[in-house]
Formats: sequence, C-alpha cells, structure tokens
Amino acid sequence: MSLVPAPRAAADTDTIDLLRTVGREFHGRGWSLGTSSNYSVVLARDPLELLVTVSGKDKSALGREDFVRVDAAGRVVDGSGRRSSAETLLHCTLASMIPSVGAVLHTHSVWGTILSAADLPRGSLRIAGYEMLKGLEGIGSHDAFEEVPIFANTQDMAELSVRIRRQFAGVDWTAEGRPPCHGFLLSGHGLYTWGRDLAEARRHIEIFEFLFECVARARMLPVSDRSPPPSVGQRQAQHHQQQQ
Ligand SMILES: [Zn+2]
Repeated sequence: MSLVPAPRAAADTDTIDLLRTVGREFHGRGWSLGTSSNYSVVLARDPLELLVTVSGKDKSALGREDFVRVDAAGRVVDGSGRRSSAETLLHCTLASMIPSVGAVLHTHSVWGTILSAADLPRGSLRIAGYEMLKGLEGIGSHDAFEEVPIFANTQDMAELSVRIRRQFAGVDWTAEGRPPCHGFLLSGHGLYTWGRDLAEARRHIEIFEFLFECVARARMLPVSDRSPPPSVGQRQAQHHQQQQ
C-alpha cells in the first residue's frame, strides 16, 4: 500500500476553457442570460470533487478564475475563498446519486421556464413523438417519450436536494440501456441535465431546449394541430381500426 497521498484533483485549463465556451454559447442562445445558470464537471470520484462556476458571473464572459472546486457537500475545497454557485448542492446531489455523471449543466430558458410552471400540477412534462428525442442518450427512435420530472422551486437547496433524492430513490442508475430520465425541471426556473462528459451534457441541454420550444409552440396551435405526426406504428393501428 502506498503511503503517498493521492494527488488532489485539479482542473486543467482545457476543461475550464470548454466550460467557458459552453457559457458563451448558452448565453448567446438565450439559455443563460444575466448571471443565471451554473455548470460543473466531475474532477474526481473518490472522494467526490467537482469544478463548478462561482456565484453571480455573466456566463458570456467567464474567466479562468470563475470556477471553484467543491466536495460532495458543496464546500469549496480549493482554498480560494470564492463562493460557488448558490445551486452547487444540486450538482453534488446529481453527481453523487448517478455514478456515470461526468458533467451537470443548468439553464434558464424562456420555454423551460414557461413549461415548468404550466405543468408543475401534473408533476412532469411529457415529450413524445419527436425525432429529436433521439439526441437523448439511449433513445433510438422518435416513437418514444420522455417524462421530465418537475420540482417546485425554492431557494432552500438542502430541502430541494432531499426532494430530488426522494424522487429518484428507487432508480437503478447503473442499469443497462436507456436511463430512467435525462434531466429535470424546476418550476418557473429552468432545466438540469447531465451526461457522462461535458459534450453529452451539452447535447442534452440543446436537445431539451429544442424539444421544450416544440412543445410550447405546439400548445399555441389549434388543438387539432398540436401533436407531432403519428408514427408508422400508430398509423398502422389507426388503419387496422378503420378496417374493423
Ligand atoms: Zn438556476
């Protein structure tokens, strides 16, 4: 057994620059306006350590110093004295709950904000039948649906973290195949999603934000025009029913 202590996790400048690029892009696309949103990557697992954005920074202009390292409880461990994002604990909760998580991204888009408030009473947002669902890890067909859990918003992150853990308590995140969900919404607030790495988490944000806009805009159409076109299977079933 080695007596040499394990080196502390460190964030390389490439990782930091990738997060800065995400910030510029998400701000440019209207998903991280003002100083909203926060992003993290997992630096180490044993013990858990994350690199997370500091509090209150304009995401279009993140500097290399605008990130801090935190432990599993969300405490800053790099000695910098800077304050991590107010929602750091949610990143830590997700990273500790889901073993495959390598990055967690959070956005405040218009469509996510509207839909999360509208569908809070039913507890989730259902997205069904869209080709772009295939951009979510493990979904291989448009003939699928994603049920995005919605949690009531709060400023009490410890309490919210308990609710999230409770909601996902029975989920086996290590099972093969499609994960049970790819993200969740906070009502009137925004989206959390994750991925095995930053690229996958970024893709999930892009896919979800596209789908949110589809769902929200479709609701503005006359009722008869709201659904995506029926799948081949649905059309065959309709044809079969008509022939009976
Ligand atoms: Zn937020």
